[in-house]
Amino acid sequence: LRERILPEGYPFELASLAGTFNQMLDRLEESFKRISRFSADIAHDLRTPVNNIRGEAEVALVRARSADEYRDVIESCLEEAVRLSDLIGDLLFLGRAESPLTDLRRELVDVGELLGRVLEYYEASAADGEVSLTKAVAGERVVAELDRALMQRAVGNLVSNALAHTPPGGAVVLGTSVEASMIHIFVSDTGAGIPAEALPRVFDRFFRVDSSRSQGLGGTGLGLAIVQSIAVLHGGKAEISSLPGQGTRVTLHIPIDCAAATKCDADMQLA
Ligand code: ADP
Repeated sequence: LRERILPEGYPFELASLAGTFNQMLDRLEESFKRISRFSADIAHDLRTPVNNIRGEAEVALVRARSADEYRDVIESCLEEAVRLSDLIGDLLFLGRAESPLTDLRRELVDVGELLGRVLEYYEASAADGEVSLTKAVAGERVVAELDRALMQRAVGNLVSNALAHTPPGGAVVLGTSVEASMIHIFVSDTGAGIPAEALPRVFDRFFRVDSSRSQGLGGTGLGLAIVQSIAVLHGGKAEISSLPGQGTRVTLHIPIDCAAATKCDADMQLA
């Protein structure tokens, strides 16, 4: 790929053809680089839990241990196996989401209700971490044609991240608003925030802001990549804004496909 067709000295048409060809080569080269970086990241992330399980099992076999010690080994093997299975599940999801055959199961969804369900699901872990978790749905009822399960997963990933990075006494808010033909769903927190230089990369697969900070928080580094792919599947996008030490807000901007699916008059349609 390094060898290039040089346009100098060729007639104009040939030179412009060569220019286009070189641009295509650049894009192809960038894709190859991304694929190979991605494969290296997958290999690394799959190898870590497997190595941990192997290490624990080897040590347990050579040293005689008490029943309690065996229990500890089994527990940490189980934790690593769960991590491995989460990672494989996330990778399979991303692979499917990028297939051109992926179809959304769109239905009319009351967005306030969807946020309420996510909130209920995370209520206990918010209470454990002494973080307040609330819903801010402005005025009218917002209804849109969405894939309920996927949207719940995207908002759930955002809440899970927000809770993981917000210290006791902080607050996480889930909210929604409608503007013209777009619906905006956001999750904001008063947590650690993300440095400006890391923000452009947080939706990349396997990107972690600071691996030492993220260690021990679980996570596969694929959470925000999944959120972005769900937003894109809905024809929209996810955006993030953050200030270190002050907090983070992620917003999903989703176009409303169905003309009727806007505000409170959608009551009739849901009935
Ligand atoms: P993971 O599955 O490991 O949480 P994500 O893709 O969800 O990975 O997040 C990517 C990076 O962004 C991680 O390094 C995480 O630390 C950081 N991050 C995500 N959400 C927040 C947040 N609300 N506050 C601070 N950092 C965050």
